Amino acid sequence: MSLPDVVTASRKTGPVTISLGAQRRFWLKVATADNVEGCWLWTAATVRGYGVINIGGKVTYAHRVAYELWRGPIPDGLDIDHLCRTPRCVNAWHMEPVTRAENRRRAPISGQAKVHAAKTHCINGHALTPDNLIRFTNPKFGRQCRRCHRERSRASEARRREVVSR
Ligand SMILES: [Zn+2]
Ligand SMILES: [Zn+2]
Repeated sequence: MSLPDVVTASRKTGPVTISLGAQRRFWLKVATADNVEGCWLWTAATVRGYGVINIGGKVTYAHRVAYELWRGPIPDGLDIDHLCRTPRCVNAWHMEPVTRAENRRRAPISGQAKVHAAKTHCINGHALTPDNLIRFTNPKFGRQCRRCHRERSRASEARRREVVSR
């Protein structure tokens, strides 16, 4: 598996590189990544409850780094909302980018939840049958595919181990 540096464009100061060294420091501060359904708790420094890590000389929120490592650049000006309501969690699959106003509102049942409810298949084409659905306490998670979560769990733990072992 190749482990490229990750370049993000989401900082106000311009693109920042999350080097392999930084990724390694990141993963050493996370206890586990083997279960995408559960929270991955940050074990190092926090600010206002959120994990922080030094990336390129800047104190950066760990959950934002996590999001960019797994999901891609955070669209300009957006906050990352923890669907699991656990600020210390760095599981990128528990997050969604929202506008600041949405983040403050935090409506439990949004229009998005209704969209989720109408879905019959996940983005990878797996049928969202009852036995393939994960039950989350927060309805904002929507109907999530168990099969995809299992594959993401396997891939994320493999990558964590790969990076940490370097
Ligand atoms: Zn979580
Ligand atoms: Zn799926």
